[in-house]
Amino acid sequence: MAATVDTSDAKKHHKRTFTGFAHQDLKKERAKWSKETLALWEKYGASEPVDKDGFQKSFIRHVTTTLARSSLNVDNFSAYQATAHTVRDRLIERWNVTQQAHTLKDPKRVYYFSLEFLLGRSLDNALLNLDLKEQFGEGVKELGFRMEDVLEQEVDAALGNGGLGRLAACYMDSLATLDYPAWGYGLRYTYGIFQQRLKDGYQMEFPDYWLNFDNPWELQRLDIAIEIRFGGSVSKYTDENGHIRSRWEGGDAVQAVAYDVPIPGYGTKNCINIRLWSSKPKRQFDLSRFNEGEYEQAVQEQMKAENITAVLYPNDNHMVGKELRLKQQYFWVAASLSDIIRRFKKTERDWDQFPEKVAIQLNDTHPTLAIVELQRILVDEEGLNWDDAWDIVTRTFAFTNHTVLPEAMEKWPVPMVEYLLPRHMQIIFDVNLFFLQKVEQQYPNDRDVLARMSIIEEATPQFVRMAHLAVVGSHRVNGVAALHSNLIKTTIFKDFVKYFGADKFENKTNGITPRRWLHQANPKLSELITEALGHKKWLKDLNLLKNLEQHVKNKDFRRRWIAVKHSNKVRLAEYIKSKTGIDVNPNSLFDVQVKRIHEYKRQFMNILGVIHRYHELKSLTPEERQNVVPRVVIFGGKAAPGYYIAKLVIKLINNVSAVVNADESIEDLLKVVFIPDYNVSLAEIIIPASDISQHISTAGTEASGTSNMKFVLNGGLILGTVDGANIEIHEEIGDDNIFLYRNVPIDPALQSVITSIETGNFGDARIFSPLINTLTFGKDYYLISDDFGSYLDAQKLVDEAYKDQDDWSKKSILCTARMGFFSSDRAIREYAEQIWEVKPVPVQPE
Ligand SMILES: *Cc1c(COP(=O)(O)O)cnc(C)c1O
Repeated sequence: MAATVDTSDAKKHHKRTFTGFAHQDLKKERAKWSKETLALWEKYGASEPVDKDGFQKSFIRHVTTTLARSSLNVDNFSAYQATAHTVRDRLIERWNVTQQAHTLKDPKRVYYFSLEFLLGRSLDNALLNLDLKEQFGEGVKELGFRMEDVLEQEVDAALGNGGLGRLAACYMDSLATLDYPAWGYGLRYTYGIFQQRLKDGYQMEFPDYWLNFDNPWELQRLDIAIEIRFGGSVSKYTDENGHIRSRWEGGDAVQAVAYDVPIPGYGTKNCINIRLWSSKPKRQFDLSRFNEGEYEQAVQEQMKAENITAVLYPNDNHMVGKELRLKQQYFWVAASLSDIIRRFKKTERDWDQFPEKVAIQLNDTHPTLAIVELQRILVDEEGLNWDDAWDIVTRTFAFTNHTVLPEAMEKWPVPMVEYLLPRHMQIIFDVNLFFLQKVEQQYPNDRDVLARMSIIEEATPQFVRMAHLAVVGSHRVNGVAALHSNLIKTTIFKDFVKYFGADKFENKTNGITPRRWLHQANPKLSELITEALGHKKWLKDLNLLKNLEQHVKNKDFRRRWIAVKHSNKVRLAEYIKSKTGIDVNPNSLFDVQVKRIHEYKRQFMNILGVIHRYHELKSLTPEERQNVVPRVVIFGGKAAPGYYIAKLVIKLINNVSAVVNADESIEDLLKVVFIPDYNVSLAEIIIPASDISQHISTAGTEASGTSNMKFVLNGGLILGTVDGANIEIHEEIGDDNIFLYRNVPIDPALQSVITSIETGNFGDARIFSPLINTLTFGKDYYLISDDFGSYLDAQKLVDEAYKDQDDWSKKSILCTARMGFFSSDRAIREYAEQIWEVKPVPVQPE
């Protein structure tokens, strides 16, 4: 790109001599079209009908042309594909209209940078958000298929590990629904989170090659390809104005190719975009090498480039310092920023207006290099002076912190950054130098504070602390629940709060989208609520659920409420039977813990409690058993493949399950189930069926949690610790509708459970000794022994409460009624108004 730059005047050189936008030229061309030509575009550009007939016509056209099949050769999967392509066409129309409107109106846009988008399936969601499910459902039925079967054909888009990735997906749904001009930016991994299967009770991992069949929910943008450099060196030169500047050159280049995923809002024409980047080699083949007979080497380089976006790293709340991961991060932020800057430049504005047109939200520290990359572009390529550039950078970015766990804090060895990104390493050192100089002015002679706040950790080798870089380079920092936001201000960012002032640090309590997590996952409850409230407006204003409270005293309503829960439990029982062969009775209390397997989440404590319950059951007389509430304890979740202790927890759960389920002496008073391969689609079946769910992290370790919100929204009660968003859920729904417990010291019941495992009652005791050891030898980092007694007490309260089914139904209704606050719409509005300063841009006023 040719740009002459005058660096003598910081303001003046913002004006670039930048001409010739393809888009402007095309506009002029189009102005020359004849009336007849324009009329054709009008006539055939109008969207196709979205009624039953229109659906069937489009379905059959896609079967015969897109899929090249005949009516004799259409199975459920083809029916899914044809339905998906029909919906895709509608999405693309909306996507086009939305993007055109945004280009025309040129509002401030928000860009959500997330390494993970855990979207799950798209078809049902799109049908509901576009309000096409009824028409298309009937249409598909007349063509000989059942919509349930068709929906079941879709594979999950699982480009995320857990809560962080699912949060990004919920936020996209809300941004679209609330008409915000927003884009997500991420990576198009060839392999999503691994598939989990069980062998002999152990977790086995299998690749998730989700693109095996075509993916109708993405649009390949071959015209958008951006070159990304790695390695090379930095040279200095003097520009025409006598200023010394840096130039990053050499190294290897790969290409970032764009894939767009349309995200439709609910009850609006707005359809936003997630742009995912895929890595490709710069050239298909290095021809010179090919001619010299180095065919294999040329092909290998191609493969190396494609490696960058091949796999999602399968760690949740844990940093593993792999070089390829750092390459992913830079590849992603460099491509995204280049794209954003290209869009900004079309408007021919001055650089100092960049933060008035662009807000970038960093979902955790993964995209922190974007801060450095923007500074590099502004200083090295655009010729701005350092201070002006840094002012633009810090006004653009805001940072969401997701954890305080030490093992999750991202830090990269300086030599690794230097080797992959030599110019960025220089810039990081300079940012740090200027920052620490200012800190020193404020705290003269305090070496300790400089060491604590430095972006560089002084060790051998040195490390770059990404969280410090993110705080220094952003204008706002937020935690994800009230407790967590306060915690970061008094722990990891304490010095930064003193230096920058408390105003820079905010709370934005997480939320979930009620469209997917109630309307889609629990259609019967959604219908009952709509009938009771007399409208569907609650789907866009979740606070309206408050009006359900008046129905609590209506006995018939309570009966119907319980009937819905029961039918969801029957649905889950059937699923459990089909996947595990285990029979569970839907009249039992369903006690669920589904989430990533992690020591801090304490699935271990849960299974120890199950063993305790089992022992107690066996010691009861037949009369005493009459009084027992039957329970099904359900687990689900993946352990990181390299997380040995977490994988042992899965094995212990499965061994306990085998022993307990086979013990006829306790009948079906206790069943234990581990459902393999927990993902979004499974969550949609499990969550509506829960009576109690467990959120029992060690206090201070779970930043927010979001599945806690999903369960309560579906009328499930919580058994939890005073941690993360549990605290705010408690404030909203009240003492009577949640079972929270706090630490009390050591309980003797724990010893007898441990002894039982060590005696071999649950299989070969030797394999579990590393797990038992985490509790003893003065370790027990996650305080299971401290909390075990009060945990069992809370479980007793659950059993007692469940005996009064009518009272339980009141609690359940109140849970749902009081969850309005936890809509992701509320969270997104807060971000938009208080951090991004962006406004809704309705595509078509209603
Ligand atoms: C909501 C969700 C999570 C997050 O669960 P937490 O209990 O908050 O950790 C993880 N995985 C999936 C599939 C989810 O839908």
